[in-house]
This record gives sequence, C-alpha cells and structure tokens, in this order.
Amino acid sequence: MKDEKERDNWELPFHSPDHQEEWYVYRCPKCGMDDHVPDFVVDEFAMVQKLKEGEMPGVACPECLTKMVFESSYIKYPYRKTEGDSELQ
Ligand SMILES: [Zn+2]
Repeated sequence: MKDEKERDNWELPFHSPDHQEEWYVYRCPKCGMDDHVPDFVVDEFAMVQKLKEGEMPGVACPECLTKMVFESSYIKYPYRKTEGDSELQ
C-alpha cells in the first residue's frame, strides 16, 4: 500500500547512513588557508549575524582573522563508516 511506503521514509533512524551533511569550504584571501565548515555551524553563524536565507555568513580566518571567502560546498555522509555495525534494517 502507498501509505505504508511513506511511513518507512520517515521512520528511518536519525543516524542513518543516508544522512548527509553539507560542508562549506572557505578560503582566506590573505594567507590562502582553507577552512571547512559544516552546515549546522554555518546556520548558526547565519542566525547570529541575522542574515537572510541563502546569504553566506562571514567566517574569520583562524590564522590571520581576515574575513574568509566562500568557495564551494560538498556533501558528506557522516554515518557511513559502519563496519561490523549493521543498524540498517
Ligand atoms: Zn588568513
């Protein structure tokens, strides 16, 4: 039945191997340092800096404190290294 299929979707465990995180790569224009920031941290920065949705918050370089420039983003599966640990059912 259709209804049962939809139920399976939202009954996935929270730590599902399909859970993805988006990571943002920032680069310092002064010293060239890269910083990788996960989406929930960027969300937090955006909240603190009161940005509109879709705006990228400013991140300071840990080396020289210059404002870093957003470069790219990538997807990571933080719960996918499950060797010998089969919670998938
Ligand atoms: Zn720097």
